[in-house]
Formats: sequence, C-alpha cells, structure tokens
Amino acid sequence: MVTTAPEAPVKVTQTKLLINGEWVDSQSGKTFDNINPATGDVIAQVAEGDAADIDLAVQAAKRAFDEGPWRTKISPRKRGQLLFKLADLVEQNAQELAALETLDNGKPISETTHADLPLVVQCLRYFAGLADKVQGDVIPVEGKPGSMFCYTLREPIGVCGQIIPWNFPMLMAAWKWAPALAMGNTIIMKPAEQTPLSVLRMGELAMEAGFPPGVINIVNGFGETAGDALVKHPGVEKIAFTGEYKTAQLIMANAAPTLKRTTFELGGKSPNIVFADADIDRAVQGAIAGSFFNQGEVCCAGSRLLVEQSVHDEFVEKFKQAAEKRRLGDPFDPKTEQGAQVSREQFDKIMKYIDIGKKEATCITGGERFGDKGFFVKPTIFTGVNNDMQIAREEIFGPVVVVVPFKDVADAGAIANDTIFGLAAAVWTRDISKAHRIANTVRAGTVWINCYNTFDAAAPFGGYKYSGHGRELGKDAINAYSEVKTVWVNLKG
Ligand code: ADP
Repeated sequence: MVTTAPEAPVKVTQTKLLINGEWVDSQSGKTFDNINPATGDVIAQVAEGDAADIDLAVQAAKRAFDEGPWRTKISPRKRGQLLFKLADLVEQNAQELAALETLDNGKPISETTHADLPLVVQCLRYFAGLADKVQGDVIPVEGKPGSMFCYTLREPIGVCGQIIPWNFPMLMAAWKWAPALAMGNTIIMKPAEQTPLSVLRMGELAMEAGFPPGVINIVNGFGETAGDALVKHPGVEKIAFTGEYKTAQLIMANAAPTLKRTTFELGGKSPNIVFADADIDRAVQGAIAGSFFNQGEVCCAGSRLLVEQSVHDEFVEKFKQAAEKRRLGDPFDPKTEQGAQVSREQFDKIMKYIDIGKKEATCITGGERFGDKGFFVKPTIFTGVNNDMQIAREEIFGPVVVVVPFKDVADAGAIANDTIFGLAAAVWTRDISKAHRIANTVRAGTVWINCYNTFDAAAPFGGYKYSGHGRELGKDAINAYSEVKTVWVNLKG
C-alpha cells in the first residue's frame, strides 16, 4: 500500500518567475496548482507565465547578452568558475533538492539522491571545466605562405530558449544550462508545468552563485502559452527542447519563420536485445533497469525487449519474477524502487495503452494500478507481441514493456531498426563480435553493450530519426550552443 508521509519532508522556497535576477509574479498575476503525484494533493501555487513574461525575460536575456557584463567583461574562465560555484551549492543542498524532486515528480528518493543529483553536479562541473577550453582553429588557406592568415572563433549564439519535460526536471535543466552558460549564451528556461520546483530552487542557487541578472531566466507556465511564446519570439536565437516528437514537430514549424537554431532530444521505443549466449541473470537486471527505472518515464527506456527465441521462456519467467519483486510505494521511503507516475494525465495515458495491449497481446504481470491513492502503475510485461502492434510501435512512457522474440542476429537488427525512433539500444551477449555487429547495425544515438542507462556528462547523448537532432552532453553540446566565425587577415604589405 501507498504510505505517503502526511507531511512532505521538504519546504518549497520558490514559486515565482526569475526574470533579470529578480523573483517576480507573472504579469497577469495568475498561478497554477502544483500537484504531488503520490497523493494527488496540491503542493503549492506556482506563478503562471505567458507571452508577456516571456517578452520581459527575452529583453533581460538580450540586454545581458548584448550590453551586460556576460559577453563583454566576463572571461570564459570566470564563467566556468560561476558554474563550479553553482555545482558546489547544488552539492551542499543535494538532500533538499533530491527531496524537492521526489515531492514534485513522484520518483523514489533513492533515485533522486543517487542518480539525479550526482548527475546534475557532474554535468555542471564537466561544462565548468570545458568553459575555458573551447578553441578555434588556424586554417591553411590558398595563397603564398604568409600572405593570408585565416582563423576561426567559436562564439555564443545569443539568447537561448530551453524547454524541458518533467521526467528528470533538474537533470534536464543542468544538461541545458551548463553548456549554454559555459559558451557564454544567456538563457530562458521554461520548466515543465508538472515539475517546476527543483528548477526554481536551482535558480535561487544560481543567484547565490553570482550569475549576473538576465543571464539565467526561468518562466514557469504551460506549453501552449509560455512555451509557444518562447519558440516564436524574434529575440530568441535558439530553442533546445526535450519532450515528445509531436511537440517538436510543432516547435520546429513555429521556430521556422525566425530561423532559430534547434536541438531536439525526443522519445524512443528503444530495443533492448537479449541473445541466448548472454549472462541471463545480468540481462534480466538490465531489462528491469531498462523497462522500469524512473517508472518507465525515460526517453531511452528499453521498452521493446527483443529476446532470442531459444531463451525466450526462461528469460521471460525470470524477468517476470524480478518485476514482481519491485518495491512500489511511498517515494520518500528509502527502500522504494518505483514511485508514482508524474500526473493524472500520464497515468491515464499509460492505462489506455495497457488496455490496448490486453486486446492485442498477453499481459503476464501488472497491467493495473497499484494502491488506491496517487498515480502508481504496477510493472507491466506483455508477451506474444509482434513488432507491428501499437504497443510495440508507440512510446508509452510508463512501466510497460513488450517482449518480441527474434531468430538470429540479422532478425534482431531488422526488428531493432523497424521503428520511427532511434534514441538508444542495448545488446546482451558474451560474443564480442556479435555485440559490435549490432552496435553498427542499429540506427540509434546510444548503444549499450551488457549495460543499460549508463550516463556520463562527457558522453554525447541524442537521437537518430524521430528521436531528435543535435547532441547534448560531451563536447558536442558546445557545438550546439555556439557559432563558428571565420576571420581572414590579409598579411600582404
Ligand atoms: P508531455 O506531453 O509528456 O508533457 P511535451 O512534449 O508536451 O511532453 O512537453 C515537454 C515540454 O514542452 C513541457 O515543458 C511543455 O510545457 C512544453 N510544450 C508543450 N507544448 C508546447 C508548445 N506548443 N510550444 C512550446 N513548448 C511546448
């Protein structure tokens, strides 16, 4: 049973908008309810920004970029130092931030403490360290040696709009803030309407770290109003978005008239491929992580489990047993492994897919709500699935996995690629050449061999096909937040 603590063990300190270094109410004075997904109760009323607030934030970000100290007086090394300072403050307040994230998102405290927060700190420090290491090139050009000098500079883009989802709120903010700020851009973040609290707290810490006014702005609000205004604003030069591909299609179209640069990190239906020669027990644990980590609300979830026919029944039995052992319940209980889905809307969407699945395949475990309060869904496994079924093709974004059998390496590769998505894939085998053949065959931005969901701020992440374009993390993220300027110098007398 769900045993949510009567009082949340963390205080909400910030619910306003951060514009030009000030915490302000929205121009309209409107607020919206922020809900605790483990109980359905209201946690706080959050300021609801719209086009008017976005406009003020863009003006502030533009001033900070064009006229403020950010671009002209602060060196890349100093930008790095500010990011290091923010990382330190996040680390010092990690317990509080983890609790805030758990309260707002419904994910277990063990995950926010041991996964989200350490990755946030690592990401801030990685890009802090990179800030003063971004270099241009000297280009050997046509002409007599010594007659022309040609070099490149890597410069910030300008005002960047950043729109993030609710599944890893603070981590998604760190992935976007850190490279953008390291490169000297100014930013306006729109957090997901379901989960603004941790990002707002991080905004407070950024102010404490000493980021100048206007460099970091946060405007809470809904996608159709605040998000839309950010995407269409002529003062914004880049949009970085993480979310559903259908939203990205709309954003791409809306960003087109002002020719904004875009990077998109979208969804997936990632194949997790288990060969008969794998260490089956490890593969089962990998499938649990791939399917159910973060309540399955993971863009790179291994939600299509492809299993070689000869081990199908053995694997499925062990996988089912492991799924049934997962501890669901109060997200604040340190032993809880699976918490609540983020919202009523998401819960309903998952249950709708489960109903569809029950009509087309066999549900061997789960397939129903857990408890009678909050938005909990039992780990759910479907077998008897073929890759053409709706539950094998569409992203469910919940603790629901389909098992599709395959015959051999070629069959596994073909099924893996038979999807519109291409975010991630994994392969479990003891045969190194088979593993690399699959890694080469699969059209996805990340391939895990005998592991799942491993992340590092230094390793680029992003999608092929409908899973997005551009890369976050690693040095690639710097490219996504910079322009290249070529300078020609005539050295002839
Ligand atoms: P979900 O449906 O799972 O919430 P979305 O892709 O709709 O995923 O949401 C991701 C982020 O995109 C959220 O911050 C949301 O507010 C924002 N968003 C939604 N619609 C739009 C839009 N039309 N323009 C800009 N941002 C949007």
